[in-house]
Amino acid sequence: MTTFSTVDFDNHEQVVFCSDAKTGLKAIIAIHNTNLGPALGGCRFWAYNNEEEALKDVLRLSRGMTYKAAMANLKLGGGKGVIIGDARKDKTPEKLIAFGQFIERLNGLYITAEDVGTTTEDMAYIRQSTNHVVGLASATGGSGDPSIFTGYGVYLGIKASLKHKFGLDTVKGLRIAVQGLGHVGMNLIERLIREGAEIIASDINAESVKRATTQHDLKIVPPESILKTECDVLAPCALGGIFYDQTIENLHCKIIAGAANNQLFNPSHGEALRQLGILYAPDYVINAGGLINVTHEGPNYDQNEAIYHVDKIYLTLLEIFHLADQQSLATNIACDRVAKQRFKNKLV
Ligand code: NAD
Repeated sequence: MTTFSTVDFDNHEQVVFCSDAKTGLKAIIAIHNTNLGPALGGCRFWAYNNEEEALKDVLRLSRGMTYKAAMANLKLGGGKGVIIGDARKDKTPEKLIAFGQFIERLNGLYITAEDVGTTTEDMAYIRQSTNHVVGLASATGGSGDPSIFTGYGVYLGIKASLKHKFGLDTVKGLRIAVQGLGHVGMNLIERLIREGAEIIASDINAESVKRATTQHDLKIVPPESILKTECDVLAPCALGGIFYDQTIENLHCKIIAGAANNQLFNPSHGEALRQLGILYAPDYVINAGGLINVTHEGPNYDQNEAIYHVDKIYLTLLEIFHLADQQSLATNIACDRVAKQRFKNKLV
C-alpha cells in the first residue's frame, strides 16, 4: 500500500500515521488542503476490515471536508482523522488522549471534532492533550453535539430539493426513507415526523432500531431493502460509497438528500442519477450544519447566529441545482467546480 499511488490520493498535503504501543492506538490523520485555513474535520472510530480501507476512508473524507468548508464559505481547509477499532469495544479514554497528543504535534494545522463512533464526551478526553478540538459539550464551554445542526441542515436540504424538483414547501404526506438511525438520522426523523412525513427506516444495529421504534411511529425495513424502497426522498444517514451501478439501477426514489459523507462511489455516479431524473443534493453541502456550528464555538458562542448560518444551506443548494440545470451537469459536478474555484488559491 503506497499512499501517493492510491486512487483516492488527491494531492493531500500531509498524511500522518499514528501508532501508540502503550494504548494500542492506530490512527491516520489526513490533511487535504489548507489554502483557506486550518484543516477541520471529525474523528471517525470504525472497525475497518484492513488498513487500506482506513486509508481510503480518511483520504476521501478529508478531501470532502475541503469542499464542504469552501461551499459553506468558511476560512477552513479539509482534514479528517480515523481511529481503527470498534467504538463499542475498543474505545478507551487513554486512546483518545493519545490521539490528542498526535493532533497537538501538528500545531493547529488539523482541528478535530466528532464523527461516526465518537461523541462530545470523547472530545473532552482529546481536549486533555490538545486545544485543537471542537464539538465539546455545552457544559464545558463548547457548542454541544454538532449532529443536531447537521440534522437541521439535512432537513433544510430536503426542503430545498423538494422546492426545486416539485415546487413544494413541505414534507407533509411524503414518504421519506432514512438509512441509519444514529445521531443525525434520529434528529432528522424527529423533524420530518413533526411536519407530517411518513418515515421508512433501517439500521444494521438492533439497539438503534429498538430506540427509534420506541420513540417514533415509523416503518422499519431490513438494511438490504432501504435503498430500493419506493419513496419521494431517500436520506442516506449511515456510511458512504452506497451509490454505484448496481444500487442505482434499483433505486425507486425521486430525490437523494442525506447526511452521509461520500455517498457516490465515484463522481460519475452523479451523472447516472441525473440520467434517471433523480435529484441529488451534494453531500458536502447538505451535511455542513455540524461543521458550520462548531466554527461558531468559543466564549461568545451564540446558537442563533449558528442557526442563521446553517439556514444558508437551503439557498446554496437551490443555487447549485439551478447551475447544474443551466449547464446540463450532474449536481455533484457543478458543485465540485464551484468549490474548487473557491479553494484553489491560498488566502493571504
Ligand atoms: P452515527 O454513528 O451516530 O450513526 C450512523 C448509523 O448508521 C448507526 O446507527 C449505524 O448502525 C448505521 N449504519 C451503518 N451502516 C448501515 C447500513 N448499511 N444500513 C443501515 N444503517 C447503517 O453517525 P452520525 O453522526 O449520525 O452520522 C451519519 C452520517 O452522516 C455519517 O456518514 C457521517 O460521516 C455523516 N455526517 C455526520 C455529521 C454529524 O454532525 N454527526 C456531520 C456531517 C456528516
